[in-house]
Amino acid sequence: MPDKANLLGFDAAGLERFFAALGEKPFRARQVLRWIHRAGEDDFAAMSDLAKGLREKLAAAAVVAAPRVVADSVAADGTRKFLVDVGNANAVEAVFIPEDDRGTLCVSTQAGCAMECRFCSTGRQGFNRNLTTAEIIGQLWLATRALRGGAARLGGAAQGAARERPVSNVVLMGMGEPLLNLDNVVPALRLMLDDNAYGLSRRRVTVSTSGIVPLIDRLREECPVALAVSLHAPDDALRDRLMPINRKYPLAELLAACRRYLERAPRDFITFEYVMLAGVNDAPEHADALVRLLADVPAKVNLIPFNPFPGSGFERSPREAIRAFNERLNAAGLVTTTRKTRGDDIDAACGQLAGRIQDRTRRAARLARVAT
Ligand code: SAH
Ligand code: SF4
Repeated sequence: MPDKANLLGFDAAGLERFFAALGEKPFRARQVLRWIHRAGEDDFAAMSDLAKGLREKLAAAAVVAAPRVVADSVAADGTRKFLVDVGNANAVEAVFIPEDDRGTLCVSTQAGCAMECRFCSTGRQGFNRNLTTAEIIGQLWLATRALRGGAARLGGAAQGAARERPVSNVVLMGMGEPLLNLDNVVPALRLMLDDNAYGLSRRRVTVSTSGIVPLIDRLREECPVALAVSLHAPDDALRDRLMPINRKYPLAELLAACRRYLERAPRDFITFEYVMLAGVNDAPEHADALVRLLADVPAKVNLIPFNPFPGSGFERSPREAIRAFNERLNAAGLVTTTRKTRGDDIDAACGQLAGRIQDRTRRAARLARVAT
């Protein structure tokens, strides 16, 4: 018998095609989409407004299978980290960050990452594989369910609970480079936006990229959501050193792609992330160069205090240097904020996500040799 289809990985169009193949109408697919994603239901038998025959047909042909949570830890500040099993001894991380006015889930898109950014723990570990759509959306599915305390039963009074959305924002800032997995990321984004699923507005879903120019254009065509770009340096020489991708797509090309993206973007600015590395990119001259670089791109800058990990070879800029850098950019008219470090006592802060990756690229060993 062929493997059962995992319905968690289908966006609305995919699910409609699956239902058509079963001889079922598209509105049935939408009904099931609501059960899976709005109610968090994985048991067809519990989908009470479907005919019994259809429930049995689905149970025979399909499953709703989210990846398994192998560890669930909560930091002192309420940040919650889910370690998610993605098979073959690989695990990735999803992090929930509660704030007064929103709840943000940081989602991973690959097991490891092939980009080799020097200051990133995920990049140091090498790459194993792309996550499937089911594994990507599965992180939102399981986090929503865990935060609600289980599946919400649709129907009657429970309807309200089903609509409760503990996750109001999603950022693709976990492990991996999302644009290198667009085939699986785009259907997951569509589910995040779908009113029958998570119903988030495009402004509340952010893709963060190290800057792969042609794929920024592809995202703009296929599913424009808010865009964050990891900049980290104001000139090519320094960015080449910190992020090898810059040798392929230097700053002028990257910023041109950002301007093109803004024609379709749901927000009228790009967020530029800038990790603060002591003595590397945190001098006043770097701030001035950044202001010049971003002069003709509508931009907001988000400074990220570097989060150390063993053997990184970098240190976080002193608090005073970060404050001065932030002020210098603001004074020059560049809207800048400094990201609060959250969840660092459970290694859940930006760039600390390690998961458990079987490196298929031998990158980790090679980078370790380079570092010594
Ligand atoms: N691969 C994507 C998204 C994941 S990383 C990207 O690079 O944009 C999310 C953010 O954390 C990126 O801006 C990344 O550069 C930053 N980051 C990586 N390592 C870090 C570290 N050790 N401390 C602080 N931020 C880090
Ligand atoms: Fe990959 Fe992003 Fe880390 Fe670079 S910063 S290695 S692109 S996860």
